[in-house]
Amino acid sequence: MTDCCARCAHESIGTLYSSPVPGVWDVLQCDRCLYTWRTSEPPRRTRRDAYPEAFRLTQADIENATEVPAVPPLRTAA
Ligand SMILES: [Zn+2]
Repeated sequence: MTDCCARCAHESIGTLYSSPVPGVWDVLQCDRCLYTWRTSEPPRRTRRDAYPEAFRLTQADIENATEVPAVPPLRTAA
């Protein structure tokens, strides 16, 4: 069972949805970084110790991630 967010290690996790057949899987979401996953995904997506180090976040990373990439202007038909 998941006990913390794989991406930021936060321990407050909510359940967004559960499988139509009870007990098969749940869709969980971290209350801090909003990372969302299904419990049936592999450990590299669901477990902090297996999550790729390059994509892990800390509280400081989140506080300093103030810049959201801009959406480029729409292309016009050529
Ligand atoms: Zn998180």
